[in-house]
Amino acid sequence: MEDLTGNTTFADLALRPELVEALSSLGYEEPTPIQRESIPPLIAGQDLLGQAATGTGKTAAFALPMLQHLETDNRSKNPTGLILVPTRELAMQVSEAVHKYGRALGARVLPIYGGQPIGRQLQALSRGVDVVVATPGRAVDHIKRGTIPLKNIAMVVLDEADEMLDMGFAEDLDAILGALPTERQTILFSATMPKRIESLARRHLSNPTTIRIEAPVVAKGDAPKVRQLAFMVPRSHKPAALGRILDVEAPAAAIVFCRTRVEVDQLTETLNGRGYRAEALHGGMNQEGRDRVMARVRSGNADLLIATDVAARGLDIDLLTHVVNYDVPSAPESYVHRIGRVGRAGREGVAITLAEPREHRLLENIQRVTGDKIAIEKVPTISDLRNRRMELTLETLRETLLDDDLDRYRTIVESLTDEFDLFEVALAAVKLTHEATTGAEDEVEIPEVEVRRAKDRKNDRGDRSDRGDRGDRDKKSKKNKDRSIGVDSTRLYFPIGRSAQVRPGDLVGAITGETGLAGKQIGSIEIADKFSLVEVPEKSADDIIRAMKKTTIKGRKVVPRRERFQRFER
Ligand code: AMP
Repeated sequence: MEDLTGNTTFADLALRPELVEALSSLGYEEPTPIQRESIPPLIAGQDLLGQAATGTGKTAAFALPMLQHLETDNRSKNPTGLILVPTRELAMQVSEAVHKYGRALGARVLPIYGGQPIGRQLQALSRGVDVVVATPGRAVDHIKRGTIPLKNIAMVVLDEADEMLDMGFAEDLDAILGALPTERQTILFSATMPKRIESLARRHLSNPTTIRIEAPVVAKGDAPKVRQLAFMVPRSHKPAALGRILDVEAPAAAIVFCRTRVEVDQLTETLNGRGYRAEALHGGMNQEGRDRVMARVRSGNADLLIATDVAARGLDIDLLTHVVNYDVPSAPESYVHRIGRVGRAGREGVAITLAEPREHRLLENIQRVTGDKIAIEKVPTISDLRNRRMELTLETLRETLLDDDLDRYRTIVESLTDEFDLFEVALAAVKLTHEATTGAEDEVEIPEVEVRRAKDRKNDRGDRSDRGDRGDRDKKSKKNKDRSIGVDSTRLYFPIGRSAQVRPGDLVGAITGETGLAGKQIGSIEIADKFSLVEVPEKSADDIIRAMKKTTIKGRKVVPRRERFQRFER
């Protein structure tokens, strides 16, 4: 069964009803290209070699087939699925995704990574687990101890295989795959396909289906002429960042694309709360509802349309000035298609993409395919926003002075000038206009995110492992000037930032000066206007907080605390 627009649906992929139901409640409207291509051969039991980056929907592409064959009752305590991932961060994310998709099936998922007490992992394993998501180092530890029963493993996934090889896990992978039953399905996903990956695949996959989400060829001149911008924003700051970007861009009419229905609804609510007239449009709405929304957009009674790809397909809105991708689209063709909605008939168009740091590769891929440059810009700061709001107030007043008949207010001004100076009266009027046109001010600073190019990221991964004892990785970490200390780290919030002229060196100096820590043990540093975030080893965090009570930075007492929001949420 295809949907109204003739596209493949999740039901077409022959997924069991519990999974189709789960996807629908998550608001997924249709499979992404990698899901469309991978799920049928995987359900049919084939091995698979897939080239796909983060953000393409690859997790669901392997997780759904893994859950497809889960027994409903009387499940064994032994896992039937094993997913190997390079980092702790990814282990947690993938576990969470499998858990979400398999909730109605009661899927028991366990992430296993270094740095976490092994006792807790053993307890969970003895209670019974269906899917284990592990970093290779910790998986090998368990296999050596005989604490992961492998005899029922029917499907194994190597996720981000190129990263795992870069981190020196090649031998571990061979050891793990060698210890699994030979009668099993093997899936390998990698963002790149260097020779080493091909050779790993030759050794462990049998007659695999090969999938590469082909980059579409866009003929020169076909891509629309549009100003293309991207902003790197941590997920938890996205709604505020979008609000701020829209305030500065002040689009006449914009469409904002989200991945899921749930996201569409949430964002519509947030933006309405910010004073926009935003309307949601998604596949969960009936035709009448959609028509009503479109009528409001066309008549200019709504300025933002928040939509999924499916719902927006076939819509022809002439007056759009801005297209916003709330997430990086899962495939370049989707990006090209979306931004083709602006910049028509010689009008200027703007395409804005919000990207999480981990989606940087997808963004690079889009630029490669389209041949267009996407400029990475800084999210407007609170002070940029204030300036812009002042400008808008000035423009509003200027238009009023030029166009409107103001005579009927003359008596008010005259009676006030008996009592006050004319200039003061004008100031009060400007204040009222400003407050009425620009709404509430938001005071939360959004941290600046460092943009990493592929080659930096590759070096960086070298020391993001869960075991620091591998020669291969150690060599890389010595070379690594770009900093992220990765897995066993946490971030500290320092209430001092750019406005106090703080530089990374000041923070590193204060920390190393007061604690026994070496500079290289301090990871990434983000400096915002009013605060800074510093990545430090988890085990040293409390010592640092204590030590900082005794010192000053830039002449000020600055006591850090642990960062409050979850860093790696999705
Ligand atoms: P991944 O590439 O697996 O990291 O997935 C990227 C993001 O896309 C995740 O936030 C998923 O929840 C989301 N996602 C995956 N498949 C779909 C889909 N078919 N429709 C909408 N969102 C999806």
